[in-house]
Amino acid sequence: MKLPIYLDNSATTPVDPRVVAKMLPWLADQFGNPASSSHAFGHAARAAVEAARDQVAALINADPGEIVWTSGATESDNLAIKGAALACRDKGKHLITMQTEHKAVLDTMLELERAGFTVTSLAPEPNGLLDLEKFKAALRPDTTLASIMLVNNEIGVIQDVAALGEICRERGVLFHVDAAQATGKVAIDLQTLKIDLMSLTAHKTYGPKGIGALYVSRDRRVRLEPQMHGGGHERGMRSGTLATHQIVGMGESMALAGQEMATELPRLRALRDKLYRELAGLDEVQINGDMTSRIVNNLNFSLKLPNCDQMIASLTDIAVSSTSACSSAGGSVSHVLQALGNDAQLSGNSIRITVGRFNTEEEIDFALTYLKRKIAECRAALAGQTAIA
Ligand SMILES: *Cc1c(COP(=O)(O)O)cnc(C)c1O
Repeated sequence: MKLPIYLDNSATTPVDPRVVAKMLPWLADQFGNPASSSHAFGHAARAAVEAARDQVAALINADPGEIVWTSGATESDNLAIKGAALACRDKGKHLITMQTEHKAVLDTMLELERAGFTVTSLAPEPNGLLDLEKFKAALRPDTTLASIMLVNNEIGVIQDVAALGEICRERGVLFHVDAAQATGKVAIDLQTLKIDLMSLTAHKTYGPKGIGALYVSRDRRVRLEPQMHGGGHERGMRSGTLATHQIVGMGESMALAGQEMATELPRLRALRDKLYRELAGLDEVQINGDMTSRIVNNLNFSLKLPNCDQMIASLTDIAVSSTSACSSAGGSVSHVLQALGNDAQLSGNSIRITVGRFNTEEEIDFALTYLKRKIAECRAALAGQTAIA
């Protein structure tokens, strides 16, 4: 077993070797520009791009013509939110989001506030989920767009985008969903869901970094003001020469996600639940976020030990995401955990473990023993301090 063990699959995933294999020719002799329509080099690249578009569309049950390539979910969020808000600005300037969104959404909203828009940022319930009645109450006659994520990147909770979409459609409000963490984890059927815009990215689903997509619903004739001007690629919504190798990689990663979900999710759930069962039983552990409406591979907990910040900041044998209130490490507090109502200490002493396709049971057993030992050391140190005092 190689250390450290990678357990941070919501930060990014390793690229699946099958994806790498598909990408390689497009980095080698297959170099044509997909926009070159006058020769075979261009035709081959165009065909590869369109095959990948079909693969991405198939995973979410959309039409390939509704997929716009971007550089990742950050760009998709920017294009969706700024693009729609600006295109609808004559209708209204009120936008709705949630405090636990990714910074790609929150900072885009802030930028629009500076440009004269008004943003309502809803607080979650203590379990991380959005209350539908609070959402309804926030809608105004001048609301043009709501942006609520499908799966939260820190605590893994799944929002009820089916119900939110119904509400938005009824009120004539565009609905954007950041689904960066959802592909391969949650079934997405855009023929049923009333979603107008959806952000996707490859690198959280075993594809390469630097490639993503925005789903733009065709039936609703959603208009977006482009954020990148140039050659008019992607029906004018996103100019720039298409990165064929990246696009081929994203297509393959999404196809694999669709094929493997049925077998992969129960396996990941069993690994995560093993961690959950043992860690949730410890007095010092507080689990963050709802455990029912949640993706199967995420565990997020805070440690109630006041002296554990150094330990959290120096976990060397497992690669996890953590916040640590520890001043020497610079200190970080999660805006998501704070929005759940956690105090600064609990928001600053948290660990997120996200299990992935390439983790083995042996690795999970090791991580569990390692973490339990680290927690016991902090507990013993604290008891020693109390005894001396
Ligand atoms: C990772 C992530 C993003 C950013 O995606 P990039 O492709 O890295 O730009 C946006 N939203 C969520 C929820 C994410 O998890």
